[in-house]
Amino acid sequence: MAATATERALLIDGEWVETGEWIDVRSPYSGDVVGRVARGGAAETRRALDAAERALANPLPAHKRAEILVKVAGLIGRRHEEVARTISDEAGKPIKTARVEASRAMSTYTFAAVEARKLAGEMVPMDAAQAGEGKLAFTLRRPIGIVGAISPFNFPCNLVAHKLAPALAAGCPVVLKPASQTPLSALLLAELEQEAGLPAGWLNVIVGKASEIGDVLVEDDRVKLITFTGSGDVGWKLQERAPRKRVKLELGNSTPVVVAADADVENAAAKLAANAFAFAGQSCISVQRIYVERPSYDAFVEAFVPKVQALKVGDPADDDTDVGPVIDDDARGRITQWIAESGGEQLTGGDENGLIKPTVLANVPDDARVSCDEVFGPVVVVNPVDSIDEAIERANGTRFGLQAGIFTRSLDTALNAAERLEFGGVVVNEAPTFRSDQMPYGGVKASGNTKEGPAWAVREMTEERLVVIQR
Ligand code: NAP
Repeated sequence: MAATATERALLIDGEWVETGEWIDVRSPYSGDVVGRVARGGAAETRRALDAAERALANPLPAHKRAEILVKVAGLIGRRHEEVARTISDEAGKPIKTARVEASRAMSTYTFAAVEARKLAGEMVPMDAAQAGEGKLAFTLRRPIGIVGAISPFNFPCNLVAHKLAPALAAGCPVVLKPASQTPLSALLLAELEQEAGLPAGWLNVIVGKASEIGDVLVEDDRVKLITFTGSGDVGWKLQERAPRKRVKLELGNSTPVVVAADADVENAAAKLAANAFAFAGQSCISVQRIYVERPSYDAFVEAFVPKVQALKVGDPADDDTDVGPVIDDDARGRITQWIAESGGEQLTGGDENGLIKPTVLANVPDDARVSCDEVFGPVVVVNPVDSIDEAIERANGTRFGLQAGIFTRSLDTALNAAERLEFGGVVVNEAPTFRSDQMPYGGVKASGNTKEGPAWAVREMTEERLVVIQR
């Protein structure tokens, strides 16, 4: 283990717990061990649920929850560079992108604090029905109960924040299982929550074999909601296995963007080149399919390809690196295979010291895996289309539905696309990789069944209780 590597225990009931077994966390770039984490399993998960149950029995008032959330945001700010380095080391994320993620986590906690303070039910206009005359009614928003949270490797800090912060705002204790490849950022956030004054049991973090921890979260009736971000294969099975729980899924995409003939091509090319390859395309809304109306196609490709070639590929720890490694050798092998079998023309790409260079493929059939599946790598497909209608039809021709985009100067074209693109979000004149943390963010179709963003997640994590009073 490198001299600077971090060693972290599990968090259960406010205590840091070692189990005698360790998981090595390796840099996806160098392969060096950058940390090790205690390995937990079913027994630790059950102990964590016991602690969460005790926490739930001693509710924290909203002002206290909000104060803790604000403090966590401040602590992330104070240790910003350490948070960013941790993300970068374990995920192989370029440090400048990791710094943005750390800042976004501050934003997520800050917005969650606002939600904690304004969490309230509604008045019901009872005398609107004859039966209600003489009665007063309102709803209370109650925490749903213990939340089981499962997070992916690609945003190991901010996607964990999108689960922990709204859960605390809603008054729900959490048992978190972060991705095994990137648990260090989650455990650092847990440390900051402790430092901010979170009482024992409100957050418990278990790292270990996914199916073992997942099985306890699915089978234990005390877990009322599972919030999962990751792949569809895992997510939809969790939902099937837990029909009586709320199972909230944030899953993948095959992100399309339309470039209309009237678009500012230079602007579209610049934004798409910057956003299709950030974190080597390992974002659920990384631009993957670009459909350009034929009159603009050549100009777009001429503007786009040199910008892609100018991206700096290399060590994620370097300040000027734009594109680092993908998460592991399996991912690398799969992506390389998909590129080779795409049937399209490779306009740029290749290998640079074992890293996949940003790859642009043109005229790729819609049934190639780089088109219809989620690549989750630094690969973009560019195709000419004869009309906006064709572009929208091909953009929709996927099982996914998370976020899509369009570049156009016409308001009418933009609004028409916003209505017809079957996605949870449609972004106009910006890369559809755009996300700001207060937005409602989530997919339809195979991409999920919920919206994150603190205001929306807090609603999911609470339930309304009706109170009727006879006057
Ligand atoms: P993944 O393989 O599905 O893993 C996600 C999490 O699920 C990890 O913590 C993993 O644990 C855990 N897991 C695996 N098998 C499980 C089981 N049987 N029971 C319970 N938990 C289990 O996904 P990933 O490769 O980390 O992330 C990439 C995917 O996430 C992509 O599809 C991407 O689009 C999606 N994603 C979606 C969003 C969104 O907001 N919509 C955001 C980011 C990523 P281990 O690590 O221990 O295997």
